[in-house]
Amino acid sequence: MKLGRMEIHVISDGSWRLDGGGVFGQVPKVLWQEVAKPDGRNRVRLGLNCLLVRTPNGNVLIDTGVGRKVDDRRKENYGLDAGKLMGGLRNLGLKATDIDYVTFSHLHFDHAGGATKFNRKREAVPTFPKAKYFIQEACWEDATHPNERGRDAYESLDYRPLADRGQLELVRGEKEIIPGVLLRETGGHCKGHQMVLINSAPRKVAFVGDIIPTPSHIRLPYITAFDQYPEQTLEYKRQLLKQAEEDQWILVFSHGYDAHAGMLERKDGRYQLKPIDLTK
Ligand SMILES: [Zn+2]
Repeated sequence: MKLGRMEIHVISDGSWRLDGGGVFGQVPKVLWQEVAKPDGRNRVRLGLNCLLVRTPNGNVLIDTGVGRKVDDRRKENYGLDAGKLMGGLRNLGLKATDIDYVTFSHLHFDHAGGATKFNRKREAVPTFPKAKYFIQEACWEDATHPNERGRDAYESLDYRPLADRGQLELVRGEKEIIPGVLLRETGGHCKGHQMVLINSAPRKVAFVGDIIPTPSHIRLPYITAFDQYPEQTLEYKRQLLKQAEEDQWILVFSHGYDAHAGMLERKDGRYQLKPIDLTK
């Protein structure tokens, strides 16, 4: 989609499956199964959405999906069908060296996995050799010192090589990485989780990461059981939705499968999503 002087495209790295109880947290199954049908192992299917922003100041990639380094245990547990990001970029006429900036909502493997790849010697190296990668300092701290509850969501090969090669920049709070692309720390889902706000007049686009992972999570109490600070997620989500409605932002969801983006409208006093296709 063309947006002022920028172009934005959602690129899917593929899909995966996660336990529905985990995805919907305290919401009872009788309610969530109406919006996401579970498979025989109680898992629901989720997207792995990344966002490419082409600007006059360079190409920015937001999140990198699971990528291709993943082991068989994870493949099986999560019903993974991933590793499609590079093909998606190629379809838009881009090579790995055309990406100038990469930023992550956070460093869980379903967002950072595609940031590195194995070379012929099976060493993990940055997938985008010329890119500068950005992450919140608090997120880096969490990923490099995870506790027992968070450990399984991180894979150090996804992000250590970025620092080792001097391609990583740590950010604190708010930062405009290039004109019109703003990082904003949200917390909630994990320490240092951030959203990315793209400002290309006349419209703003918000990549909301796992603060609102799918359109079903627009409902305020729908918060995953994986969130480190669910009350923070709730408060951030409340103010984000209010602003998104007032300013008519386009929201992009990390894990929406059927719908990956859209704008808010009200029906009977409740938020509803009017989907927009950003894959074209
Ligand atoms: Zn996620």
